[in-house]
Amino acid sequence: MTTIGILGAGQLGRMLALAGYPLGIRFRFLDPASDSPASLLAEHVASTYTDNAALEQFARGLDVVTYEFENVPVEAVRQLENFIRVYPPSVALQKAQDRFVEKSFLCELGIPTPRFTVDLKSRRIEEIGFPSILKTRRLGYDGKGQTVVHSQTELDDELNHRDANELILEEFVSFDRELSIIGVRNRAGEMKFYPLVENHHRDGILRLSLVNGDVSMQLQSQAEKYCRNVMVTLNYVGVLVIEFFEKDGRLLANEMAPRVHNSGHWTIEGAVTSQFENHIRAVTDSPLGNTNPLGACAMINLMGTLPDVESILRIEGAHLHLYDKVPRPKRKIGHVTFVEKDVKTLQRKLDLLKEIVDV
Ligand code: AMP
Repeated sequence: MTTIGILGAGQLGRMLALAGYPLGIRFRFLDPASDSPASLLAEHVASTYTDNAALEQFARGLDVVTYEFENVPVEAVRQLENFIRVYPPSVALQKAQDRFVEKSFLCELGIPTPRFTVDLKSRRIEEIGFPSILKTRRLGYDGKGQTVVHSQTELDDELNHRDANELILEEFVSFDRELSIIGVRNRAGEMKFYPLVENHHRDGILRLSLVNGDVSMQLQSQAEKYCRNVMVTLNYVGVLVIEFFEKDGRLLANEMAPRVHNSGHWTIEGAVTSQFENHIRAVTDSPLGNTNPLGACAMINLMGTLPDVESILRIEGAHLHLYDKVPRPKRKIGHVTFVEKDVKTLQRKLDLLKEIVDV
């Protein structure tokens, strides 16, 4: 029996375990919070990520360790790598945790990104122009720590009360849409990709993901090429997601996530093999599963408050997922997926859901 250790016991960990049980895999989680969404599903070590003794205890008897959240300290993963296999490799985590390191790395690989600088006094700011977007280099997610600045005065105002060493300034891209590619690679080097997902955010938070065939083959192969390049360079194992802005038919990479991703939740019911199962297959040295979509798909995040569950379940074909989290403003507490035979039917289902949920 294979046992996988997962750092982080949030909803992504929960969905990884739910995908792994049919394959006969066991799980153990490590997470500082004792009431996290995955803790009901498996053994759970409640500890910080920086307690070496707890890490050792956690790893005892495991076959492999993975993580479901990208702010796990790199040192914790390196510490574990001393005595157990950890996938994705710590180098991927290290690249993804700092927006400057990440964007510099993507540029080195020839993957276009929005213009950026961390030298907030340099002439580069003129090249980036205004409006631009000021972000924390580290620990920013779901739009946290981000401010749009419209002029040098606004930028100076921000810099008066923030630590410039912790910030990155990026060109504000008036994109046509946002897309993400979900790739997966196993230890043998086999790679597979899901179709590009169209993502709609509000206040920096993902609300809706669509897979409805509205992407050219050229864009798909471009995204796959970029994702493949990152995975091969890092000798990557597991699911990797790159988020892009599409502008005038070109892709600009915004960020990458070395883990399963919210924009891949539709794959649970909407693809032959889900991103969660494929991540598990990858980290356990198994062949990867088919990534083809099963129809026109939509995934809607449930945010903040719990909607009327019964009304959602009344919509034919609605797949409801609740994460067992205490509702709180801007908190993702669940999602709904539709997999329909065509785009028109999908839109009809979305319209019905919009009567119940603020999409
Ligand atoms: P991030 O935390 O970088 O994923 O940003 C969250 C969301 O903010 C993105 O999905 C976009 O909707 C928006 N955003 C981030 N960076 C930019 C940018 N450079 N230009 C325009 N919008 C952006």
